[in-house]
Amino acid sequence: MNDSTAVTVLRYGHRPGRDDRVTTHVGLTARALGADRVVFPDNASGSAETVRSVTDRFGGPFRVECRGDQQGFVREWDGAIAHLTMYGEPIQDVVGSVRDRAVDGDPLLVVVGGEKVPWALYEQATVNVAVTNQPHSEIAGLAVFLDALFEGRELDREWVDADRRVVPEATGKTVVDADDAP
Ligand code: SAM
Repeated sequence: MNDSTAVTVLRYGHRPGRDDRVTTHVGLTARALGADRVVFPDNASGSAETVRSVTDRFGGPFRVECRGDQQGFVREWDGAIAHLTMYGEPIQDVVGSVRDRAVDGDPLLVVVGGEKVPWALYEQATVNVAVTNQPHSEIAGLAVFLDALFEGRELDREWVDADRRVVPEATGKTVVDADDAP
């Protein structure tokens, strides 16, 4: 897969209060596991601020946006759409074809729901992708999908414009100024 391929994650729907933590973690997971951008609904501005703050401290590139019209965003998307849903086709059967389209430079939109998503989304999606056909979580589904999409290469990515860097250790919690990093 072309490393410059743009992968956007769309958080479809957000219930303020109830979904705050999960929506934030959708954004943090998108950033950590190789997506280029997350788009939140307008009513999730607190989650957007948290993910921006993490990006400022720990690096990017990663963009965070809020949009009011999630349906319009999907309708106007010019590229492939992978909608993650327990009702979809098994990820192991379809992720290769999603990757092949991306190799050709097609931007990819990955959609994860919160509350029930509208039926139109199932029809607008290029592919409805199931990470098992069991109910679980948008965070887990997104993590497994991105890891399969990038075939694990996202784990070795380099971060730029970071203020801080974690020093990997067997034991301990060491964070240093990025400028002091070896
Ligand atoms: N009850 C909601 C519905 O019927 O649409 C689903 C809520 S679920 C907690 C929230 C999101 O998690 C879903 O919209 C989907 O994106 C993701 N999700 C849950 N289980 C999944 C699975 N097995 N595979 C892929 N995504 C999944």
